[in-house]
Amino acid sequence: MKTFYGKPVFGGIAVGEIRVLKKEEKNVHRSHIDDGEKELKRLEKAVDETLTQLKQLYEKALKEVGESGAAIFEVHQMMLEDQGYQESIQNMIMTQQVNAEYAVAVTADNFAGMFASMEDAYMKERAADVRDISERLIGVLLEEEKKEINADVPVIIVAQDLTPSETVQMDKSKVQSFVTRHGSTNSHTAILARTMNVPALIGLDYEDGIHGKIGIVDGFKGELIVNPTEEVLALYQKKQEEEAAKRELLQQLKGKETITRSGREIRLYANIGGISDLQSVMTNDAAGIGLFRSEFLYLEKEDYPTEEEQFQVYRSVAETMAGKKVIIRTLDIGADKQIDYFGLEKEDNPAMGYRAIRICLKRPEIFKTQLRALYRASAYGNIGIMFPMIISVKEVRSIKEIVEEVKRELTSQGVTYGEVELGIMIETPAAVMVSGELAGEVDFFSIGTNDLTQYTLAIDRQNAALDDIYDPHHPAVLKMIQMVIENGHKGGAWVGICGELGADLELTDTFVEMGIDELSVSPSCILPIRRKIREHD
Ligand code: PEP
Ligand code: MG
Repeated sequence: MKTFYGKPVFGGIAVGEIRVLKKEEKNVHRSHIDDGEKELKRLEKAVDETLTQLKQLYEKALKEVGESGAAIFEVHQMMLEDQGYQESIQNMIMTQQVNAEYAVAVTADNFAGMFASMEDAYMKERAADVRDISERLIGVLLEEEKKEINADVPVIIVAQDLTPSETVQMDKSKVQSFVTRHGSTNSHTAILARTMNVPALIGLDYEDGIHGKIGIVDGFKGELIVNPTEEVLALYQKKQEEEAAKRELLQQLKGKETITRSGREIRLYANIGGISDLQSVMTNDAAGIGLFRSEFLYLEKEDYPTEEEQFQVYRSVAETMAGKKVIIRTLDIGADKQIDYFGLEKEDNPAMGYRAIRICLKRPEIFKTQLRALYRASAYGNIGIMFPMIISVKEVRSIKEIVEEVKRELTSQGVTYGEVELGIMIETPAAVMVSGELAGEVDFFSIGTNDLTQYTLAIDRQNAALDDIYDPHHPAVLKMIQMVIENGHKGGAWVGICGELGADLELTDTFVEMGIDELSVSPSCILPIRRKIREHD
């Protein structure tokens, strides 16, 4: 039994088999393997898959650049099948009992060194090729590990870090917990863990050798226990049962109003990333959806989702919620949420870069497709639309012009749509400062405290090294929230919070006193907040 220590970002107890995800960065680690034959089979399968990829690349290049340009992929196939190259990898696996990735990486180094030292200019150049095929082969081996997440047993995902596009591909029904070496309290992995109601730890310095072992995550103490003794396992299973009992107790609040003792009602909504979260919204009895992060729809795809694909999803959410409010946020990509097919340039400072509404306003064809889908879906429920990363009244007016254009088009095509409330995220200090003017333009504000804290304190929310000073309780942030509520109300807009701070039970009373109208939180946080609000005098 061995215990590793990290920082908890969401509480709870999880037990499962540990899956250490290796990054595509091809950062290969040496690990000891017990079954050499099994590893050889893994290698063989990966070589076959790599050969298929090379054949496909050959065909593609043949069509696009002709025979001479495609020839290199034939050379690569031959090199991959080369007996000397393959034997070197196989020998290393068997004699040194190492993992296939490591054996490929070492063989690549040896062969590349050998080619590079040759006199013949043609042979010298083969050094780069052997590295290239080896990287591809390692990529396939690592990819196979990634797919293992879709296992039949409950798993604890352990990784250097997880990007939203990686988490989106997982079979979440098997994931019991997330543990990462990097990542911050407000990273999307942390948000996802809260949404899924599974414990999560960050800043945990693990060893690759824990892969495949049984682990326990204590999301209260920040511990990952590997290979627990039977006694420890039994202890934690008991703790898990106690947790379940506490949750059961909260279930009594289902169907009750979210109302203070003095009779003020606060709308308690849920944050979701997709249809799969709806189950949890229902179980936790949310009064609506206050933030549907629609970018996850784009992250799941290999190409832009069509209007029809989006319409089906939005309609399904609206129908499932059966008349309860569903606020869908338009595409918020860029910064930590990168999507290859958008072809965005690499930026030095992406959090302050080309993201969210800035992309939508520069690429109206993408924006209009989403707006059409949203308006069409509005005929099937109570949809609201909100726009992220707003900094000015000018932006909001441009958005509203595009919205009107979309509505006119739909009307002229005889497509019906419902009444849609329009709102904006208040997540930049600029939006806070002009919230008085903005209130006259929209129906509601939703305060995105995750980004608002980042931009107000000038602290990258993704930077784990700054986690200790990323303080959403900072008086500057709280004063801004107060100001937004006052300005919103003066201008006739209702005001909610959809950032993670909305679920902070230490601040629930403060928000109620400030006059907040709505709190939108991870589904698992709904019932504890309902209890807190019902106790408020
Ligand atoms: C926020 O910034 O608070 C927010 C809710 O948006 P996201 O976390 O998706 O950036
Ligand atoms: Mg945000």
